Amino acid sequence: MTQKVLLTGDRPTGRLHLGHYVGSLLARVRLQNSGDYRCFVLIADLQALTDNFKEPRLVADSVYQVALDYLAVGLDPALTTIAIQSRVPALAELTVIYMNLVTLARLQRNPTVKSEIAAKGFGGSVPTGFVLYPISQAADITFCKADVVPVGADQLPMLELTREIARSFNTLYASVLVEPEALLGDDEQSRRLPGITGNDTKMSKSLNNAIYLADDADTLRAKVWQMFTDPGHLRASDPGTVEGNTVFTYLDVFAQDTQRVAEMKEHYQHGGLGDVKVKNYLVDVLEDRLAPIRRRRAEFAADPALVWDMLRAGSEVAAGVGEQTLAEVKAAMGLDYFGRAHNVL
Ligand code: ATP
Ligand code: MG
Repeated sequence: MTQKVLLTGDRPTGRLHLGHYVGSLLARVRLQNSGDYRCFVLIADLQALTDNFKEPRLVADSVYQVALDYLAVGLDPALTTIAIQSRVPALAELTVIYMNLVTLARLQRNPTVKSEIAAKGFGGSVPTGFVLYPISQAADITFCKADVVPVGADQLPMLELTREIARSFNTLYASVLVEPEALLGDDEQSRRLPGITGNDTKMSKSLNNAIYLADDADTLRAKVWQMFTDPGHLRASDPGTVEGNTVFTYLDVFAQDTQRVAEMKEHYQHGGLGDVKVKNYLVDVLEDRLAPIRRRRAEFAADPALVWDMLRAGSEVAAGVGEQTLAEVKAAMGLDYFGRAHNVL
């Protein structure tokens, strides 16, 4: 049986957080372990530079942090090729070729990029690289002919663009590229986990509203303590609202004991259940998930050379796969100058 190909990735702009965990990491590990997929994970340093070009050190240092997070949640380099984007040279060439297949108007319609541009306060000075990053992301996804891409909901416009590029290429030249499918988290809340500051924000490294996989127990507790609940729920005896109450949103996503969560919601809505009790429970639930991850992270962090060797080896494998696809892409376009028989008139 031929394996399907899975690809996904993260921007090394900081450590990974609970949004990554439920939006993408859990599915990656599950599918990796199923044996049904050839798996690639890309640490997208060049994409991270498109809005962090003034801080290349932050990006470079985050590559290692993200790699530790991967190993801590159970990505296994024996089963998943983990590569650094800038070490896969074919990606840059594929990006240049794909640029012709996308109009500027099409790029400007991307709702995720639009909201990122607004949030980052670029004003009228958006770097060209930032506007183009969805095209380089199409190269990231197609270099290994990915069938499946486990991502959060914010990435759906990128997947759609990638599908359009693959379709255009295959129609114009020859059928080389694969149109990928997005694989979203199990429920609405996992697909776009809110930040600790409220349900209207996406948990994001850039918004300072994240609980990181590597946060220690005290930091975790302090962050849960800051979390937004129901502003009208002043005394424990008051009836409270669970919709839009971030603490309950997190319990829905992370608590295994759904019966207990249902009872707590009921109690909270009737009045008589204080925020402190609900938050204490959430701390326990998250601590149960994060403690083993934290422990494994510390074990891998004890041997940085091993982590870098793993990244080097994965990047070399991915670079080879990228060369192969690029050769097929060029051949489909007749750009394989030295590899075919020549007609000399
Ligand atoms: P940045 O602010 O630097 O963009 P980020 O926190 O948005 O960082 P990314 O590296 O852009 O993280 O995203 C990596 C993957 O994690 C993507 O598949 C994305 O959809 C998913 N993801 C990120 N944030 C969330 C979230 N809050 N809920 C669900 N999935 C998420
Ligand atoms: Mg992002």
